[in-house]
Parts: sequence; structure tokens; C-alpha cells
Amino acid sequence: MKKLGFGFMRLPLLDKNDHSSIDIEKTKTLVDEYIKRGFNYFDTGYGYHGEKSEEALNRCVVSRYPRDSVIIADKMPTIRVKSAEDYPVLFANQLKRCGVEYFDYYLLHNIWEKSFRESEEYGAFDFVKEKMNEGRIRRFGFSFHDRPELLDEVLTKHPEVEFVQLQLNYIDWENPGVMSRRCAEVCKKHGKPIIVMEPNKAGSLINLPDEAERLLREYAPDEPNVSWSMRFAASQENVFMVLSGMNDIAQVKENTQIMDDPKPLCAEEYEIIDKVCKIISKSVAIPCTKCRYCTEVCPAGIPIPEYFAAYNTYHMTGNMGNAGMYYRRYAYVFPPASKCLKCRQCIPSCPQHLDIPSLLGDAVSLFEE
Ligand code: SF4
Ligand code: SF4
Repeated sequence: MKKLGFGFMRLPLLDKNDHSSIDIEKTKTLVDEYIKRGFNYFDTGYGYHGEKSEEALNRCVVSRYPRDSVIIADKMPTIRVKSAEDYPVLFANQLKRCGVEYFDYYLLHNIWEKSFRESEEYGAFDFVKEKMNEGRIRRFGFSFHDRPELLDEVLTKHPEVEFVQLQLNYIDWENPGVMSRRCAEVCKKHGKPIIVMEPNKAGSLINLPDEAERLLREYAPDEPNVSWSMRFAASQENVFMVLSGMNDIAQVKENTQIMDDPKPLCAEEYEIIDKVCKIISKSVAIPCTKCRYCTEVCPAGIPIPEYFAAYNTYHMTGNMGNAGMYYRRYAYVFPPASKCLKCRQCIPSCPQHLDIPSLLGDAVSLFEE
């Protein structure tokens, strides 16, 4: 299987202010080009594009290509499940919207602390097993946005899970809010293959600071930035699929060319990426180096570097959805930034001389108000 999946979450729109107004005719041309170039993995989700993505996938892919020539992945919207009775209703609706009899890949969408406890309570894993026995699901996994410790717990409790979908890209590899590397290591420990989401961090690894751009150009004058991020994702051990939300024909051509036979990054290229990460980090809103000296002295137990990472993510991407999600994940388990006592005990411990309580106040304004 080729490693590039077509994500149906950033499709072309007829009206840029209406996320549900998918341009079906344009999407068909993108799908045709992608398939013509030898790729066939499509990823959708119940809530994508105001609940119109699954139907678009039906109209652009399922109804136009033989079912066994394409691979369809869909996700149970855990956020909408309030009782065990919701699973069969949502699942039946998904089959109908997609126009399929079965899903090749099926995921519990967005597993984190809260959704995992609820999925356990409502019997999500048993429901999926039942659907696998009925032949409605071929392979089962979940998408994950939380701490590696939780990932380890889920995979230990559920060895039947066959794969994991992770946010993985070079800037989040060591990001303390996302921890791509550590999550990938947990997958490796459990022998689970990985599907990558957000390889370009919502496009932010395509528009890089000038200094970073220069470094990449010096090494490989003709290689676009997107190639570096896609190849980084594809180069990681256990990764068998890299998703990209494509919305114009140039992107489809470029991504399929890169991912036709992605060249693994060499040692020198990893060194360049390391330098690029440092440059990006210099340009971030809060220059926290994640040394964690502050958390050792904080009497309130606030996960300070994680909240700063979420804040920086927002400032880097302009995307509140992703940054806010990571903030809430931590604030669900640990005290939120608003619980800072303003005792200032952390300040002398910070080698970056950050005014931590004041910056936590900025995080409160951004994420809690
Ligand atoms: S000022 Fe806030 S973050 Fe710093 S040590 Fe006190 S409670 Fe913790
Ligand atoms: S001490 Fe400063 S640099 Fe280190 S993790 Fe805390 S805020 Fe970040």
C-alpha cells in the first residue's frame, strides 16, 4: 500500500465561509488525479465539514470506483456518544452516508482521558468487535491526542487494537504538549502500526521563517518544504500511512510525487530539521525550552511547559481547534492555568527568565475565557 492517504477534512469549498459547502465537482477531479497516480486510501470522519464529508466521499469516490479498489477509513465520533445505544445508530448512519457495506479501517475518533473512560463505560471496544465479527469492519484502531502514558494504558487494556492514528510531525516530535516521539515509541512497544495525521501541522511547516527556509534551500534547492515534512513522517518506524487534507490539484500532484516512493531522511537531513526546529522555536511566542525546572517547584502542580506549548501552537498555526484541544487535555487531568497562585516561586528557577505567572495569565485569556 502506498503511504499517502487522502484526508476528507479540508476539501475545496464553494463558499469559503461555509465549511459544509464542499465543492463536489472539484473534489472529484482531485480524487481522480490521486487515484490515477496509484493511491487509494481515503479517510473521513462523522463530523468533518459540518457532517458532509462522509456523503462527499460517497459521491466522489464510492459511487464512482469499484468498492474493492479503494480503502475507506471512518471514525466513530466518541464526542457524540452519550450511551451504549448511540453506537449502532451512529454506525448505521455512517455506512449509509458513505454508501458502503463495510469499512476497511475504522477508528474510535479522538481518544483522550475523558473519551477513553466513556468508551470503556459504554462498551465501544465490544461494539467494534461485534461489527468486525459481522464483517462490517476490517481493521480497528483509534486516533489519539493525549499523553503517552494514557496511550500505553489503552493499548495494554486493548491488545486487539490493530493500529493507532497519531499527530506526528517534526515540530511536534519533541513538543511537550503533543509528544509525537514518545507516543510513537509506545506504539512500537505494543507493535502497532501508525497512521500519521497533521504531518504539516495544519500547513504551518509549509510557511517557514526565512532563516529556516534558507537552510532547506541551501541543502536541496528544488525540494519544497512539504517534502521535508511528509518525508519526515513517512521515515518514522512503524508508519504505514500519512494523511494529507488536499484541496487543490497542485497539492495532489506534489504530494503524490513526493509519496510515490518517499526517500527516507538521511542523518544530514535530520540535522537540518533539528536546526529548523530550533529556528521555529526561536520565533515562538513563549521561548520555553521545556526544561521543567519550574514544575519541580510549583506548589499548584501546573503543567507549565505543556500550557506554553499549546499557547505557542496557537500562535504558530492560528488554529484554535488543535491548540485548544491540547490545552483542554491537560487541564482535564492537571490544574488549569487559572489555578496559578501567583506565588512567583517558579520565576527564579526559569533559565529563560520568563515571567511564568504572567504568561500563564495569557494562556488563561486565550484558552479559558
Ligand atoms: S506562580 Fe503559579 S506557576 Fe509559578 S510556582 Fe506559583 S503557582 Fe506555580
Ligand atoms: S523553567 Fe522556564 S524554560 Fe523551563 S520549562 Fe519552565 S517555563 Fe519553560
